[in-house]
Amino acid sequence: MTVSRVSGWDLHCHTVFSDGTKTPTELIELAHAAGLEGVAISDHDTIAGWQEAKAAAQAKHFPLIRGTEITAEHLHTSVHILAYLYDCEDKGVLDMYAKMRQRRYERAQRMVERLSHDFPITWQSVSEQVREGEATTIGRPHIADALVSAGVYKTRSDAFAGAINGKSPYYVPVDSLAATQVIFALKQAGGVVVLAHCGAVKRNRRRMLTDDDIELFAREYGLDGLEVYHRENSREQQERLSAIAQKLGLLQTGGSDWHGEGKPNVLGENRTDTSTVQEIIRRGRIRLIN
Ligand SMILES: [Zn+2]
Ligand SMILES: [Zn+2]
Repeated sequence: MTVSRVSGWDLHCHTVFSDGTKTPTELIELAHAAGLEGVAISDHDTIAGWQEAKAAAQAKHFPLIRGTEITAEHLHTSVHILAYLYDCEDKGVLDMYAKMRQRRYERAQRMVERLSHDFPITWQSVSEQVREGEATTIGRPHIADALVSAGVYKTRSDAFAGAINGKSPYYVPVDSLAATQVIFALKQAGGVVVLAHCGAVKRNRRRMLTDDDIELFAREYGLDGLEVYHRENSREQQERLSAIAQKLGLLQTGGSDWHGEGKPNVLGENRTDTSTVQEIIRRGRIRLIN
């Protein structure tokens, strides 16, 4: 089958190894069918999907960048950090992941405990929603799915709008690691580090990352780039981020934040150009799969 190529790569994709609905193999197949030049896997806070994605990419000879989207915080602002092509066996990275898993696990347990007073769910019923067993980070999507399967809500989105919403009394925030600490660890491990959707107003109504915050990450911690092209960055924010990137000499990336059927985002709806991807590959410590 010949597929006509559309220019660019989608560098922001989630699979069942975090809160997406498709497997890494399906990601590779769909990215290939969509005619993308290549794709990055970037599940939340895990590398658990890398192995399957690598095997699928090699089988199809489809270019794959292995990455992760890590949740962190800076001055009470939530910061999502995309890291590509880093050494996942680096000691600092392993320690960082162990700390994060523990915090997320405890938070999910506290939320389920609160919810169980008013809804027919248990830790057991939430655990049953995890698609790939131990490898997945249990989080709000799984609690949402447990509420759906208990008949409380029709869809995962309804649950996100209801009891597990950030404003709900059942909500428990996760204590994220400091963004500076996360960027430092990933840079030490040879990663190429990009701030995801940092112009998304809805995600941080109280405080967004300022130009100075971004400058600090770039000058003191070695931040490589900004995800300028993302559906949640408004046109004005894209212009702002692009100007900051030019001023600081940062890479400008784009990604769909695809979650399969879990969200309306379409694979490849935002992309990163070929020359930027080549620079990412040049900087990264581990190799491109193709
Ligand atoms: Zn994100
Ligand atoms: Zn994402």
